[in-house]
Amino acid sequence: MSGFDFDLFVIGGGSGGVRAARVAAQEPNVKVGLAEEDRYGGTCVIRGCVPKKLMVFASEYSDAVEDAAAYGWDLQHGPFDWSRFKTRLHAELDRLEGVYRNLLAGSGVTTFDARARLVDAHTVQLSTGQTLRAKHILVATGGRPVRPDIANADLGIVSDDIFHLAALPKSILIIGGGYIACEFACILNGLGVKVTQYYRGDQILRGFDNEARALIAKEMRAKGIDLQLGTNIDQMTGQRGAIDVVSTCGGQAQFEQVLFATGRVPNSDDLGLGDLGVSLAKGGAIQVDEYSQTGVPSIFAIGDVTDRVNLTPVAIREAMAFVETVFKGNRVPVDHDLIPSAVFTQPEMGTVGLSEEAAREKGPIEVYATTFKPMQTAFAGRTDQVLMKLVVCANTRRVLGCHIVAPNAGEMIQLAGIAVKMGATKEDFDRTVAVHPTMSEEIVTMKTPVRSA
Ligand code: NDP
Repeated sequence: MSGFDFDLFVIGGGSGGVRAARVAAQEPNVKVGLAEEDRYGGTCVIRGCVPKKLMVFASEYSDAVEDAAAYGWDLQHGPFDWSRFKTRLHAELDRLEGVYRNLLAGSGVTTFDARARLVDAHTVQLSTGQTLRAKHILVATGGRPVRPDIANADLGIVSDDIFHLAALPKSILIIGGGYIACEFACILNGLGVKVTQYYRGDQILRGFDNEARALIAKEMRAKGIDLQLGTNIDQMTGQRGAIDVVSTCGGQAQFEQVLFATGRVPNSDDLGLGDLGVSLAKGGAIQVDEYSQTGVPSIFAIGDVTDRVNLTPVAIREAMAFVETVFKGNRVPVDHDLIPSAVFTQPEMGTVGLSEEAAREKGPIEVYATTFKPMQTAFAGRTDQVLMKLVVCANTRRVLGCHIVAPNAGEMIQLAGIAVKMGATKEDFDRTVAVHPTMSEEIVTMKTPVRSA
């Protein structure tokens, strides 16, 4: 390591950066440093997946208490206490951040609570004034939410702000139709906020299976969300707490809060990358090859800053493949195919593989799908419906896509994802005995295609 302070220097202490740092540091004679300017754990732990999921749990108790009455329980439905929840939420996030710090310290990684900038292909400069040299540099700086370019956009908030609200608003307008918009529409609705959602397209959750999207939209509306499609925000005026909005369809309304869930951009600015010859895509994503290597051989990048598939487990896979390639002498490309994922709407969606629409473009398919009222909520008198769907290649019989819209669909798709990743055929699903009585048994009992295309 002559002339270098570190074998690896990681910029960014989120899921990807922390994993790469601590796994690399476990290799013999590999000295690792990591700089994080904010809190350890990054988007996922501090302002994304983890606090969001805890808010999903909080928001589901309202219906659960109502349903309990049908099951014979005499429970009183009181109001939701945001400040009580928020105190516990942040205590949990503090605990998790501590776990991340301890993991790094325990692995022998030297951490710097500072912002880092690249000076040359092997040198980083920290906001503390320190300059450090490393044989390899890994950029794992993640992304951040963006507001659209409209006047007074700073009257609105972004997803990072939700976890710090002093009080829950009585009403909120959510702009966008992606993961974050739909998840927070459901969460806030469940917590008792009056939710209006504007999405400029013709259906929410663009890119997912159309039948699944339509069912989620229907159920969101049934739960009381005022979802307005083909609608965007045109003007916003007023002040925080009383924001007057005019929509592109001419509607006018006042909301206590406006949440922009209009996408995220990579944190690649002001890192010195352009000066070093590292290519950035139009939106700022660092351009890397299948080994996460940039055009400058000593500089690598993983996670949301590369804008490949922006999911925590993918960043972790990219981190592991990077360590394997660079420090274990075993070149491993990152496999981005057939990634199961979930959208934590209510109802939840779990999905892996191709949508019906995407599969149809590739060749002849058969579609197996069923929609029904699940036993647990139907008994309580609810009309909620779930969807189980398989998209099958008519020639090879392989299951190309599996789409589930149901409570706990995220848990189900993790397991179905193994079969799909293994290349299971429809007949493999058929010869698997059903687990009864469950919702997911329908995934192995659908006998006749509902459509062929
Ligand atoms: P998305 O890219 O999923 O959605 C952005 C939404 O905002 C789209 O509906 C888009 O519309 C709309 N939009 C963009 N620009 C404008 C504009 N100027 N005016 C109005 N609407 C606009 O981003 P998110 O922020 O929801 O999520 C970012 C990423 O984070 C996701 O792609 C995902 O990878 C990850 N994520 C994953 C989660 C999970 O796994 N459960 C949860 C949360 C985030 P259009 O469709 O027309 O482009």
